[in-house]
Amino acid sequence: MTMPENGAKELAGKRALVTGGSRGIGAAIVRQLLDAGAEVVATARSAASTVPEGATFVAADVRTLAGAQALAAAVQEALGGVDIVVHNAGGARPHKGSSEIPDEEWQEALELNLLASVRLDALLTPLMRERRSGAIVHISSAAVPTPVAPFLHYTAAKAALENYSRGLALELAPSGIRVNVVTPGRTATPGGEATREQWARMAGTSDQGDIPAVPLGRDGRPEDIANAVLFLLSDKANWLTGSSLVVDGGEFHRG
Ligand code: NDP
Repeated sequence: MTMPENGAKELAGKRALVTGGSRGIGAAIVRQLLDAGAEVVATARSAASTVPEGATFVAADVRTLAGAQALAAAVQEALGGVDIVVHNAGGARPHKGSSEIPDEEWQEALELNLLASVRLDALLTPLMRERRSGAIVHISSAAVPTPVAPFLHYTAAKAALENYSRGLALELAPSGIRVNVVTPGRTATPGGEATREQWARMAGTSDQGDIPAVPLGRDGRPEDIANAVLFLLSDKANWLTGSSLVVDGGEFHRG
């Protein structure tokens, strides 16, 4: 754990909400924030043994407005306010082609990967504005610039999230609130692995056979993504807003 010069932990006294904090990348972010001294509420639809010890777990489905409202109220009650929000819950099921993505899955993809962040930010930023401080990170996907048919609902929603995030950053900058994006590449998580297995089964090929090697030689670990999130939330990033940090082992950056 890195300490600022005065010896205090870098997020000491900060109150944080992490959506999708029960496993995978979200659980790694929760661990990093706890380690950095923050008080953390982790949310997911169901509690799991992988929710990091020390976090307060709140069950919520962030796909609906009612779920976002209940979560915002629970966070207020548990922490008395919030200084940090990490919008990590996300994902979608692959389909063979764009025309086979059912309408309800387009809606679900937009609810989970875009509107959950929009609604929670609208509920949580007014108090941050009053305090004139805060930091928000939206988790997108490094696949956005190279959308493929099975995931068009997912990458379209994440692309919209990135655009929204940049606009929100400009809106909130005068209030002292920073808003940034982290875009993970292929990361070893329960959700990531299950989705890639589904995709490979659907395409009738092996997962490893189809996907080019990552230049840095391995898939991401949840901690690799959490490190980038922690940096963007910390004072070391106090002149960064509206930015997008790609953490992908070089996978999407080969020329
Ligand atoms: P996982 O599927 O492993 O974990 C997802 C987390 O979100 C779980 O805690 C899950 O708990 C929660 N969640 C899912 N749906 C909801 C919901 N409706 N309401 C509240 N919580 C919910 O995902 P990853 O760790 O792999 O991914 C995290 C983020 O990183 C996502 O935004 C994903 O799109 C992005 N990403 C991941 C990549 C990867 O390779 N893993 C690559 C690029 C981007 P529960 O099911 O109990 O609700």
